[in-house]
Amino acid sequence: MATTTAAPATSAAQPSIFETLGVKPVINACGIYTDLGGSRLSPRVLAAMAEVNGSFLRMVDLLEKSGQRIADLLGAEAAQVTPGAAAGIMLGTAACMAGTDGTRSQQLPDTQGMRSEVLIQRRHRYKYDRQVGMTGARLIEVGGDNGTNPWELAEAITARTAMLIHPAHLDGVAGTVGLEETAKLAHERGVPVFVDAAYMNYPTDIMGSYVRKGADLVALSAKYFGGPNAGGFVMGRRDLIAAVANVHFTRYESGRFLKYGRPLKMDRQTIAAVVVALEEWLAMDHAARFAGYARQAAWLRDALAGLRGATSQPMCFTMDERLVPEPVNALVIRIDPALAGMSAAGVAEALEAGTPSIMAVQDDDRIAIVMDVLEDAEVAVIAARLRTLLAPA
Ligand SMILES: *Cc1c(COP(=O)(O)O)cnc(C)c1O
Repeated sequence: MATTTAAPATSAAQPSIFETLGVKPVINACGIYTDLGGSRLSPRVLAAMAEVNGSFLRMVDLLEKSGQRIADLLGAEAAQVTPGAAAGIMLGTAACMAGTDGTRSQQLPDTQGMRSEVLIQRRHRYKYDRQVGMTGARLIEVGGDNGTNPWELAEAITARTAMLIHPAHLDGVAGTVGLEETAKLAHERGVPVFVDAAYMNYPTDIMGSYVRKGADLVALSAKYFGGPNAGGFVMGRRDLIAAVANVHFTRYESGRFLKYGRPLKMDRQTIAAVVVALEEWLAMDHAARFAGYARQAAWLRDALAGLRGATSQPMCFTMDERLVPEPVNALVIRIDPALAGMSAAGVAEALEAGTPSIMAVQDDDRIAIVMDVLEDAEVAVIAARLRTLLAPA
């Protein structure tokens, strides 16, 4: 066994990976965004990744057991970890077309001989519905700009329909058919309903609620619950999760079929991290988490007191990117250009241009400093930068 020498403590001796690559670090005051790296992994999640790094296992086995653990935690029949919720949409769509038939998994995205139409209510169209079409399926809009009637949705279901997709965050939008009614009319016609619940994770009861409301498959993204940026899972009906496994990345070379999902592969570290992050999320004291954000927001407000043209207020920056009063997870700073000497857009630009780059949310005459993934030391850096930019009164 090789002896190990103690690694030098960080600092001068060893340039950071950022320095080596010439990448400018970012203080993320926006919240959880794929383009900024997702979330911050906890020590326990990192430890789980390091632990599985130490040994090998059969990926099929890990996918099956981790899936069952997730399903048990959330009250679903079965589940399968996927490289994110967008991948979950692809794999779920492919699963609804191919079932557990390996030949069909290999045939995709050629959908000949399969049910290959996916229905979506027109008012439910959203950015990630693009994933449906990447499988070879055809996305078909039902209804109009004012909504969709239940009978329209029912009539649109034919022998060509593979599934219905229903984005959870748009459930109940005016004029649309809700999830429970959608599931009922789809099931009467033998067609499954897929729910994208990517960020529906708080209160935590909501995560398992869609299955109880009749969804056959539900996708969540791990980036929103402290898991890896490239992690997530699909849960739901056991037969459909078996179909997801049939189109997933494993057994490409060792099995009989060149399965559809081979490019959507994952590391064992990612799979372990998704499970541990979910366990942590479910056990977490979320009241304390929000109290932490409120404390950071109050600290920052005090640190900015007396700045000319900047008035701040603790607020909530929601998952669908709106500013509402509660629960507080951000400090919103209103900039008066006449007094501050620069606009909110100018402040945001200056924050971004500095080193480290500070990425904040700018909305009209307001800047929001979102605490979701900020450490106290970073909030202090933001305070100092804002004080330099905005002259004191
Ligand atoms: C982020 C997001 C996704 C994609 O999730 P990934 O895990 O990043 O693939 C899908 N749907 C919604 C609503 C999202 O916010």
